[in-house]
Amino acid sequence: MVNTTIKTTKSQEVFAAAQNLMPGGVSSPVRAFKSVGGQPIVFERVKGAYIWDVDGNKYIDYVGTWGPAICGHAHPEVIAALHEALEKGTSFGAPSVLENVLAEMVIDAVPSIEMVRFVNSGTEACMGVLRLMRAFTNRDKIIKFEGCYHGHADTFLVKAGSGVATLGLPDSPGVPKAATSTTLTAPFNDLEAVKALFEENRDEIAGVILEPVVGNAGFIAPDAGFLEGLRELTHEYGALLVFDEVMTGFRIAYGGAQEKFGVTPDLTTLGKVIGGGLPVGAYGGRRDIMSMVAPAGPVYQAGTLSGNPLAMTAGIKTLELLQKPGTYESLEQITKKLADGLQQIAKETGHAACGGQISAMFGLFFTSGPVHNYEDAKKSDTAKFGRFHRGMLEHGVYLAPSQFEAGFTSFAHTEEDIEQTLAVARDVMSSL
Ligand SMILES: *Cc1c(COP(=O)(O)O)cnc(C)c1O
Repeated sequence: MVNTTIKTTKSQEVFAAAQNLMPGGVSSPVRAFKSVGGQPIVFERVKGAYIWDVDGNKYIDYVGTWGPAICGHAHPEVIAALHEALEKGTSFGAPSVLENVLAEMVIDAVPSIEMVRFVNSGTEACMGVLRLMRAFTNRDKIIKFEGCYHGHADTFLVKAGSGVATLGLPDSPGVPKAATSTTLTAPFNDLEAVKALFEENRDEIAGVILEPVVGNAGFIAPDAGFLEGLRELTHEYGALLVFDEVMTGFRIAYGGAQEKFGVTPDLTTLGKVIGGGLPVGAYGGRRDIMSMVAPAGPVYQAGTLSGNPLAMTAGIKTLELLQKPGTYESLEQITKKLADGLQQIAKETGHAACGGQISAMFGLFFTSGPVHNYEDAKKSDTAKFGRFHRGMLEHGVYLAPSQFEAGFTSFAHTEEDIEQTLAVARDVMSSL
């Protein structure tokens, strides 16, 4: 083995105490290790491609705080910008120049966005966009895809991905039937199913929302023609197309999946990377639709801390760093090396596995595949993934604690980090 097995005594103590204080000992369910066994490690600090736990162990990190850390954790320029902003105060609750700056950057980058509204999380962005879709079209129903996650609002908790998939919750108690009666679902990559829903619900469907590249059911890429097909169908049936790019925005490409695949939706949600590690979400799109949002229009949505100066500052600096020439090429190169390497090692060590990668987002399923949708993903050997996860963790590699989550790299990850990760993976897979 490349490393010696780690000691996590302090992590265990802190987590044991946390379980009395917070449900499940965590502030968000995906952080628990329920589906991989064992206990979460408790973090002390993060820097670049690495994290350190409270016992002093160092790990190469492929979670990247679930997406935001694309420049690497605690990038010195982001931290310096935050120090400067901090001196001017932590919240204004009033307009600031910083909002204009980040808004212009987002509008310049993301093809569909002509106007933007900042919020505090991806969940909030998806809630806002949902109300807007319905208001603009005067229709209530929406189509979402099995295994896609759009935050934890009632309407979206139907066949949702991420923690809902990880924990095997079909949906959640406390969600009234009325809230999900307007949610129609289809398998990802299945245009025929979407067309059938449009036919059965003529003039009733406000729009289609999706992760253009799925990350919350594990990594699943769109089949050739799928996004284009959705664009055509939504046009044909007078519905809106919404890309939830909370995960893919500024990660798949600077302009998100819509830039990468050349398909422009009507509305887009963002989060994660645009906050640079602080709480930010955003939704935006066509000017005629966004003009309906209050106070320009009648669709109400508000937030005490929205457009927060610290969050705007971290977002602006992060996007500036991403604009440096060659960033996405190097992200692609590093991540391809990792994803290809993992599949190759799985093959050589006799495991059925498949996976993929686009830019700085990757996945590995313990099933022979191919995986086109959540049903396919669910054929994975999750017990084997659990053993793999534990083995990697014990040898200094931190992966998302679920088969149904994507992995993330950053431009802080070096070739050596990838090589070390693959060496560990070879050892672990050899003894799975
Ligand atoms: C993370 C995520 C969300 C939710 O964002 P939060 O900031 O966790 O509320 C929504 N949609 C997608 C695609 C995501 O990956």
